[in-house]
Amino acid sequence: MGRIIAIANQKGGVGKTTTSINLAASIAEMGKRVLAIDLDPQGNMTSGLGVDKNEVENTVYELMLDECSINESIQDTVVKGLRLIPSNVNLAGAEIELLGINDKEYILKTAVDYIRDDYDFIVIDCPPSLNMLTVNAMTTADTVLVPIQCEYYALEGLSQLIHTINLVQERLNPNLQMEGVVFTMYDVRTKLSNQVVENVKENLDTKIYETMIPRNIRLAEAPSYGIPINMYDSKSAGAESYRKLAKEIVGRKDL
Ligand code: ADP
Ligand code: MG
Repeated sequence: MGRIIAIANQKGGVGKTTTSINLAASIAEMGKRVLAIDLDPQGNMTSGLGVDKNEVENTVYELMLDECSINESIQDTVVKGLRLIPSNVNLAGAEIELLGINDKEYILKTAVDYIRDDYDFIVIDCPPSLNMLTVNAMTTADTVLVPIQCEYYALEGLSQLIHTINLVQERLNPNLQMEGVVFTMYDVRTKLSNQVVENVKENLDTKIYETMIPRNIRLAEAPSYGIPINMYDSKSAGAESYRKLAKEIVGRKDL
């Protein structure tokens, strides 16, 4: 049995979506059955996996408002073995529409429980805020993976994120664990990247993945073609690093 991994950090632009897409695709490449869930109204994971977010009929929004079943919300992607619950801008209104609904923290979890046995891994791309959608991701998930961008303000907001994870674990999902931290946009040549890594190691008591995702232009280009990095440029440093990360994550025996 694999696990459900929420990829979260309330900061925007740290590599959540890039990691969600390429981790999911790399795990699928290993022959696992993977489901990707796009929980960001920006729908960047949806379009990055070759699905037209403006044409999709059933998204995670319809699913959460009980306007479709989970099976109706799941669709194939360009990647073999990787399926997707898409998202688009409609989801931006979900927070308001869920007001007053009973157990609104568990809506996604209740739906995912029906199908989780069909998949080895489920990867959830979270929005850049600690809102009800992120809480739904954390009640559904077994673990939270936090991408940290190697830049000056990397640690800003991290204590708030950890606090949120702890609160969800105490009050809503006692099974929730930290998957750990993965560094993104790493540049070996800069002192700053190395300082950020050292700083996080000193300040965070959590697993830090050995694989660091380098800054790699191919990773930034791939989404505009609607394919993950292993299909866009299979030999690139970006593709190799996400493959390595996937192996590390799938190979964990302690979770
Ligand atoms: P988030 O989902 O946290 O907002 P994204 O994954 O969308 O972050 O990344 C923000 C921007 O940085 C995007 O334009 C993306 O293509 C680019 N990017 C992400 N990771 C890398 C990387 N390792 N190398 C180069 N560009 C990257
Ligand atoms: Mg994103």
